[in-house]
Amino acid sequence: MTEFRRRHTDQPIKAPRQQISRLAFALAGLLIAVTAASLLFVGYIASEESTRQAISNEERLFRSALNERLRALVREQIGTAYSDETVAKAVRSFDPAYARTTFDTLWSNYRHSKVLLVSGDDEILAESFEDYTHITRRPLSETPELEQVIKEAQALYMSNRVRVPGGYGHRSLQGLDPSEFAVMGFLRIDGKPALFGAMPVMPDQYETTLPDGMPTVLLSADFIDESLLRRLNAQLDFSALRFELRAAMPEDGPFHMIYTNRGTALGSFRWDSQTVTTSIWPTVIPVIAILSAALAALAFGIAWRIGQLTTSLQISERQNRFLALHDTLSGLANRLQFNRVLESSCNSLPGSPFAVLHCDLDKFKAVNDTYGHAAGDQVIKTMADRLTEAVGSPGLVCRIGGDEFMIIYRASVERRKLDHLCITMIAMAVKPIEVGDGNRAHVGLSIGIALAPDDAISPEELVAHSDSALYHAKKMGRGRHAFYADLPGDTFLAADEENSPPTPSVAKVSKAV
Ligand code: GH3
Ligand code: MG
Repeated sequence: MTEFRRRHTDQPIKAPRQQISRLAFALAGLLIAVTAASLLFVGYIASEESTRQAISNEERLFRSALNERLRALVREQIGTAYSDETVAKAVRSFDPAYARTTFDTLWSNYRHSKVLLVSGDDEILAESFEDYTHITRRPLSETPELEQVIKEAQALYMSNRVRVPGGYGHRSLQGLDPSEFAVMGFLRIDGKPALFGAMPVMPDQYETTLPDGMPTVLLSADFIDESLLRRLNAQLDFSALRFELRAAMPEDGPFHMIYTNRGTALGSFRWDSQTVTTSIWPTVIPVIAILSAALAALAFGIAWRIGQLTTSLQISERQNRFLALHDTLSGLANRLQFNRVLESSCNSLPGSPFAVLHCDLDKFKAVNDTYGHAAGDQVIKTMADRLTEAVGSPGLVCRIGGDEFMIIYRASVERRKLDHLCITMIAMAVKPIEVGDGNRAHVGLSIGIALAPDDAISPEELVAHSDSALYHAKKMGRGRHAFYADLPGDTFLAADEENSPPTPSVAKVSKAV
């Protein structure tokens, strides 16, 4: 394509195809990133929440095992403390041998680490040390950690005490929770942290009764040692259940802190959570990866399709644009394109003068009539190529209809050069054209020339003037060119009235040689 034509015909639109594709891919990438991040975030939140739930479940299970152990401790005491015999031998009068026997029973049957019998006068009557029972009469105040517990047990008794003939008794234990008649909890005894239960001694058959005043209290304790941890863990099956004499931090994992009845911290039970080690990430990560991959395939597929559609739209847009501005038979610029270029050329006047050459084939109808329409088409195409070749890069050759061609020529408006160009074109036009079946068509060419800005400066006038000049060339015998500037005044009218008789022309008309 020539420089002039390239400038004035279908310049490729700087279509944003790549930008659209890039944008689509970027959006797809962003979508995947956002989705993956959201999935990770949801996974993280779900993981944290499930870990928190699992830890809180484990802690709840542990609390219930510990409470169960405290209640069991009290139930194990009932055989001793809820007995007419104990009332008789520990409250009404004190029998050391009986105390030893019962303490031994509690130690050997139930493994109570420590047993104490405290009188209503706040005196410790008997106290066990492992398998040995020490009979003593020492004031409770020597063991301050027990005072609070015993007071609570006494207060509880006073609220449950019932008047019976000959003294006092305790309301029936039938259907009562241990916490309703016994004090339970944690204390430090003999320097060791322990679980304890303390209940008042009371008659069961009422062959004897209790005296007025505070009750005698039986207190049993389980040191928190390996044996207790094993018993607690029998059902739980926690990993590395242990007791530490320090407060635990939540970030260290699951724990349960214990306090004395006076609110002093004793330490904390800890264990290794199963849940913390069994992370959900091994499950969540592959799911996220698969979802992201599926989404990526989908998003990139859509982005790729958008790119494809954009490309075909642009191709079709370019084709439409080309078809709108070009003649389908010859491939030359059409009338619309000619008008546009002519207008823009006029706009650059007077700086860039140019010539408008209006060309019409001579005796073309005869080709159609003799060889058929297809042969006529062949002549038009061949003539289009010949004119384009003759004009070269500084001219735009247009087919404006039928056998008419318009040329906008910018190389020169010099007569001499234009004469030469027209003579060349006319000489090329008269060469016979192969139209098939061994036939050769013969046509000629007539040319009318108007110069801008010398003859006119508006597109309409330039076209009209070139047409007048062409008309004149035809009238003068065809196969020649005529300049508008050379036409006699009355020729203008004749161009508009085809049927008017030819006027003698004085215009300079060249005949091709
Ligand atoms: P003149 O020398 O006076 O120019 O006469 P002419 O025989 O060349 O006839 P004219 O220019 O008046 O008419 C052009 C003819 O071209 C009229 C029409 O039948 C024919 N024609 C118009 N368009 C086409 C086309 O696309 N293909 C073919 N084969 N013929 C066409
Ligand atoms: Mg013609």
